[in-house]
Amino acid sequence: MLEKRVNKMNEDLKSDAEVYNIVQNELERQKSELNMIPSENYCSKAVLEACGSVMNNKYAEGYPKKRYYQGNKFIDDVELIAIERAKQLFGAEHANVQPNSGSPANMAVYFALLEKGDKILGMNLSHGGHLTHGCPVNFSGKYYNFVEYGVDKETEMLDMDKIRKIAEEEKPKLIISGYTAYPRTIDFREFHNIAESVGAISMADISHIAGLIVGNAHPSPFPFTDVVTTTTHKTLRGPRSAIILCKEKYAKAIDKAVFPGLQGGPHEHTIAAKAVCFGEALKPEFKDYAQQIVKNAKALAETLMNNGIKLVSNGTDTHLLLIDLTNTKAVGKPGMGKDVAVALEEAGIITNANTIPFDPSTPFRPSGIRVGTPILTTRGMKEPEMKQVGEYMAKVINDYQNSELKSKINNEVKELCKNFAFY
Ligand SMILES: *Cc1c(COP(=O)(O)O)cnc(C)c1O
Repeated sequence: MLEKRVNKMNEDLKSDAEVYNIVQNELERQKSELNMIPSENYCSKAVLEACGSVMNNKYAEGYPKKRYYQGNKFIDDVELIAIERAKQLFGAEHANVQPNSGSPANMAVYFALLEKGDKILGMNLSHGGHLTHGCPVNFSGKYYNFVEYGVDKETEMLDMDKIRKIAEEEKPKLIISGYTAYPRTIDFREFHNIAESVGAISMADISHIAGLIVGNAHPSPFPFTDVVTTTTHKTLRGPRSAIILCKEKYAKAIDKAVFPGLQGGPHEHTIAAKAVCFGEALKPEFKDYAQQIVKNAKALAETLMNNGIKLVSNGTDTHLLLIDLTNTKAVGKPGMGKDVAVALEEAGIITNANTIPFDPSTPFRPSGIRVGTPILTTRGMKEPEMKQVGEYMAKVINDYQNSELKSKINNEVKELCKNFAFY
C-alpha cells in the first residue's frame, strides 16, 4: 500500500527514463541495505510529498506578511505553521525556518552575531566537531578565529572543567556545543553557564540529536541556550534542511542575516515539508521512536563490544557509535576506516569512515567507523535485530578480507531488510 504510493509518486518521472531509473535504483538500494550512517534517516511519504509539491513554484523573498512578491497568501500560511510548530516543539522564543541546510544556518548565526576575525570556541574537528566549526578550508575557519577544545584522552568524553579553563583563557565571543561524531550526552546547561561567565554567546548545534531532544532521549539546550541550530533531516526525520532557534533578543539579527544577508528566495516546498516533519515530531509516538533509537544504539554497542570491537568512550548515550579500529584486535592498525567501511558495504551494511579522537592517522585515511541507528529504528527494528546486525558487523570487521563471508552476510542482510520495509 505505502510502497505503491511512492511508486505512483514517481510515475510522472517516467517521462525522463534515465533519471527515473536512477531514482528507482536508489529506492531499491535504500530498501535492500542496512543504512547506518548516523546523519541519515528515512522521512515519511508525507514529508516527501510536501517536498515534491507546487510550493516549489513560488518566490517568497522576505518573511510572512512582509514579502517582496505578490501571491504569497498560502506560502505565508505554511511558513507561519512551520514557525509555530518549531517553537512549540523545542520550547523556543523565536524560529527562523528559512535556512537551506545546516551549514548555511551556522553561517547565518556567525554573520548575525559576530564580526570577521572574532574568536569562537568549538570542538576539535577530529574529536567530532563539524566542518562549519572552524575547519581551515571552510568559510568558518577562513573568516573567524577558531580556538578548540577536545575530549579527554582517557575517558574520550568531554571534560567540562577543562573546557571552562580554555574559555576563561581565550575569552571567545561565541561558544559552540553539538557535534557530528560524539556518542555521549552533552551538558548544554554547563556550556551555557561557562559562556555566560566569560561574556560569550552560547550556541548549540543540535543537528545530530534534535530528534532525541524532542523525544526526551537527550537533555535539551532550551530555554537557556542563546542560539540553537539544527538540520531537519537527521534524527528529526524531516526534509534535507535546517532551522535556527534563538532567544527573542537575537531574533532580528538572525532573521536579517538569513535574508537578505545570505539567502534569496526561501525554499517554501522544503518549509512545507519542515512543517509536516515538526507536526510528526509533536506526536506522542515520536517520543517512543526517539527512545527506541537510543535503546537500539546501546544494544548494538553491547553486541559489538562483546565481539571484540572497541568503541570510542566504550559505549553510547545517543544514536551514534564510533568504532576505534586501532584498538580492535582483528584490525589493530591506524588508517583502516575506509577499508573496513568498504568491507561492510560489500556485506550490505552502509557506514562511514571517520576520524577518532587523537587519531594516529590522517583525516584522509581515518581510523574509525561511524555508525548509527536512526534508519533501522525508522524501519521498525528493535533490540533483537540490533543484536543480529551487531553480529553481522563484528563478523565482517573481524575478518574484513573474507569475500565469501561478506557475500553470505549480504544475502542475510537482504532477507532481514525484506521483513523491515519502510517505503
Ligand atoms: C550535519 C551537520 C551540519 C551541516 O548540515 P548540512 O545540512 O550538511 O549542511 C552542521 N552541524 C552539525 C553538527 C552537523 O552534524
